[in-house]
Amino acid sequence: MEKAKRVLLKLSGEALAGPAGKGFDEATVKAVARQVKPSAEEGVEIGVVIGGGNFWRGRSSNAIDRPKADQIGMLATVMNCIYVSEIFRSEGMDTEIFTPFACGTMTKLFSKDAANQCFREGKVVFFAGGTGHPYFSTDTGIVLRAIEMEADIILLAKAVDGVYDSDPRTNPDAKKYDTVSIGEVIEKKLAVVDLTASIMCMENHMPMAVFGLGEKDSIRKAMKGDITGTVVTVDDK
Ligand code: UDP
Repeated sequence: MEKAKRVLLKLSGEALAGPAGKGFDEATVKAVARQVKPSAEEGVEIGVVIGGGNFWRGRSSNAIDRPKADQIGMLATVMNCIYVSEIFRSEGMDTEIFTPFACGTMTKLFSKDAANQCFREGKVVFFAGGTGHPYFSTDTGIVLRAIEMEADIILLAKAVDGVYDSDPRTNPDAKKYDTVSIGEVIEKKLAVVDLTASIMCMENHMPMAVFGLGEKDSIRKAMKGDITGTVVTVDDK
């Protein structure tokens, strides 16, 4: 694949948690930062979206109202971005965090113009807080921002190393795709991003690449256009 000029990278909340499964694992996040840095230095414009599953999901509680539970989830993604942004800074990168809702002085309020300015300044830009609305996810959040910011591709660093025709953790005969169309992803409900996010990708021609976070240098390679996992193709505009 061609090397992209602007990418949006998705890290799941669980990925930050490392072996502990909850909270943050410094070594894991530092390893991610070290992979991102060379591409940032080469001028690739990098946006980052992080899930919240290491703290909380809107579905975590049946006892409270879903929109409130989702607010907690969105705030979890903000905490994750503050942490990862600081680790990126400790590794020598310049960063900015945007949220779709005001968080006082902790983040900047998102606008396309302000985010573009940060890209021009060579910063790694974190898009925290998802879409800012309940009943959505950071999958829909990243697709929305990728479309809005006119990214070339969405990079999904996952626990599983690509897209399979069935779950490779339960089916040893599961087959991995090198490429798969977004139409097939939707039709066969393949595990890439959730359905709402998949439809947005299809309608707006936003390609994705899925690869294993645990594989050596996978993020660095993906930023150079070398996808070891699966490319999700879309029709040209
Ligand atoms: N969330 C939300 N709106 C968004 C993005 C996230 O309400 O636009 C909430 C939702 O509660 C979700 C949680 O934040 O469960 C964490 O986001 P993530 O995408 O990790 O959730 P998952 O899809 O894994 O539940």
